[in-house]
Amino acid sequence: MDIGKLKDAVAREIDKRYTPLSELSRKIHDSPETAMKERRASGWLTDFLKKDGFSVVKGVAGMPTAFRGDYGKGKPVIAFLAEYDALPKIGHGCGHNLIATCSTAAAIATKVAVDKLGGSVIIFGTPAEEADAGKAIMVGKGVFKGLDAVMMAHPGVRNYVLTSALACQTLEVEFFGRASHAAANPEGGINALEAMILSFNAIDALRQHVKEKARIHGIITDGGEAPNVVPAHTAATFLVRAADDEYLDILKEKVIVCFAGAATATGAELKYRWADVRYEPMLNNVTMAKLFRMNMKSLGHDFPLSSEDERSGSLDAGNVSQLVPVIHPTVAIAPLDVLVHSEGFAEVAATDAALRIMLGAAKALAMTAVDLLASPQTLAGVRAEFQKSKKS
Ligand SMILES: [Zn+2]
Ligand SMILES: [Zn+2]
Repeated sequence: MDIGKLKDAVAREIDKRYTPLSELSRKIHDSPETAMKERRASGWLTDFLKKDGFSVVKGVAGMPTAFRGDYGKGKPVIAFLAEYDALPKIGHGCGHNLIATCSTAAAIATKVAVDKLGGSVIIFGTPAEEADAGKAIMVGKGVFKGLDAVMMAHPGVRNYVLTSALACQTLEVEFFGRASHAAANPEGGINALEAMILSFNAIDALRQHVKEKARIHGIITDGGEAPNVVPAHTAATFLVRAADDEYLDILKEKVIVCFAGAATATGAELKYRWADVRYEPMLNNVTMAKLFRMNMKSLGHDFPLSSEDERSGSLDAGNVSQLVPVIHPTVAIAPLDVLVHSEGFAEVAATDAALRIMLGAAKALAMTAVDLLASPQTLAGVRAEFQKSKKS
């Protein structure tokens, strides 16, 4: 078996389908659906995969818009992750229409390798990346068990293979005070807004003394009803992030103390709830990352392994990466001055140029699948690195 020729054949499968893939990407882009509401996108993607020979199951992990498409039988099992949720108001400002199309293209192309080498390829439709950590829910339901490698690529403004992502958990906070006339009877009231403002100030003070990469940021979602009424209720949503799970646990306690202190100071009652799922930090598989990089190079794209900008947000692919070897390269589709999560980025995500770049990445992902399916030693190396990094 000539691996080089097989990689060429895999890449050709993507070129052959350029027109339908571009229609797919455009449809998802032009009909943005937010977290857990991605009904049309999920339908278009599963129809596309069924036509190309995948057996599809919808409603995976209790989420109507999650799906799984299988081709082939037995080990090794290579999986691709498709995201397709949009942002409220901004639409596809994170370019998830391109992720869906890229992973679909990579999965379909990998069929050729599965036919020649055995094993199987699965594509998972993973909803709600932006809001409810759909992949974390899928991890919790055991959806990703038994996989050998998982891949996807995300559009961005820089090229790099090793994507960093912070551990992150959402906090919902409420203060309950007592309403009264703010001028005629202020001493009769308990001010829930002052409790909230004190909490923000306490968190500002805490922020000076947290570890590198930790982030605490929030918004007030209820700040009271009227200026002449002492606010009886306020609410806020916060995100608390850290480089690792251990420090996130420590930071969560420190954050709650800020709110509890404000409750004591004002007499308001504090209620809070941490989100059921949390985003876990990304564990990159460097062995796979190097294969992807080599395959990108053979296609004429020189990709650095790491980004020169170390800053990052959080990704639910991080949760998958704690369970299975994962790569999640970032692919530049826009210049540095176009911000991800902006309307400008959404416009770029609709262009042919952006799609061509992402389909280049899809080829390299499928070629990496060829490397893994063709060589048990390579796959053993990927697994060994994963086990070692889990222990450390
Ligand atoms: Zn995003
Ligand atoms: Zn995204």
